[in-house]
Amino acid sequence: MATSKILAGAQVVLPTGTVPGGRVLVEGTRVTGSAPGDAEVIDLAPDHWVVPGFVDIHNHGGGGASFTSGTVDDVLKGIHTHRLHGTTTVVASTVTGEMDFLAQRAGLLSELAEQGDLAGIHFEGPFISPCRKGAHSEALLREPDPADVRKLMDAARGQAKMFTLATELAGGIDSVRLLAEHGVIAAIGHTDASYEQTVQAIDAGATVATHLYNAMPGIGHREPGPIAALLEDERITVELINDGTHLHPAAFELAFHHAGAARTALITDAMDAAGFGDGRYMLGPLEVEVKDSVARLVEGGSIAGSTLTLDRAFKRSVTVDGLSVDDVVRAISANPAKLLGMYDRVGSLEPGKDADLVVLDAEFELKGVMRKGEWVVTPAS
Ligand SMILES: [Zn+2]
Repeated sequence: MATSKILAGAQVVLPTGTVPGGRVLVEGTRVTGSAPGDAEVIDLAPDHWVVPGFVDIHNHGGGGASFTSGTVDDVLKGIHTHRLHGTTTVVASTVTGEMDFLAQRAGLLSELAEQGDLAGIHFEGPFISPCRKGAHSEALLREPDPADVRKLMDAARGQAKMFTLATELAGGIDSVRLLAEHGVIAAIGHTDASYEQTVQAIDAGATVATHLYNAMPGIGHREPGPIAALLEDERITVELINDGTHLHPAAFELAFHHAGAARTALITDAMDAAGFGDGRYMLGPLEVEVKDSVARLVEGGSIAGSTLTLDRAFKRSVTVDGLSVDDVVRAISANPAKLLGMYDRVGSLEPGKDADLVVLDAEFELKGVMRKGEWVVTPAS
């Protein structure tokens, strides 16, 4: 099998714009600038698209497997499931658990990150608000004491990439400062903060809004709350779950209009059922029923993550919300790669970067996925 490949003839989305009838040159695991000798030429239809592999910074699992509770093989299965849907870079998100349990999970997940299967760990909980707990176990929630944040950071051996915090709680602002000092993303989420408290957390160094709108107060005209503060501030990237369930299309479009393509990150917040099917699952210690692809807690009925994959988010953003392909590529690949400090390696199709790419047809259905120069999904010729 040739290690050099030339993908030819489709619309290629580059940071500088879309090239019709473009070529992507692959040598070994990387994109290259000059045509490699002895290359296999893959002809693609002119109405097809070649876009960078997707980067998901908020994902709890898939393929029936959980990043919070599964074995190493389970976690790898979850990662592979999302690769089949175009996500070539994934951060594993945990849900609230006991501190010792989370520290132990951090050990297992950091090994997978060290060997390149994961892009790091996102701790969602336990440092979140009981008022906005969503599908997190209330009994295990705690205030964001910087010493506890530090404990999980240490357990992750440099692979902690993001913490979601309710920054209005005691220790919240100090924890934001601690994370920012160590180059770890402080994300505001599962929060009951006011507008003013949110501004304070951004000033302290928070840079991401965890699934904007979900698990936070709505916008009121006298109490604009966290959403207005997060949308208006140039320092914040907003995560959006564009599955048609978590957000009304008008709410999605309002956020995109304000944050723009440069400050939006499309995420899945996927749980085990993504790429798998309806049924009963566990999300951490809580039981979840997935029906018609919507995951809800058995007790209370809170939405409990999604069954979204990023190929569906891509298609929906273009075909339902009318975003340009260029804008979706920024929100689904480039921006999350930049947040993770990985844009020198992934997030765009430029020479020297990993050959991570997705082939879509004219209807934005996924037709091919390449990761580090190898097909995960081979496009039909
Ligand atoms: Zn989540």
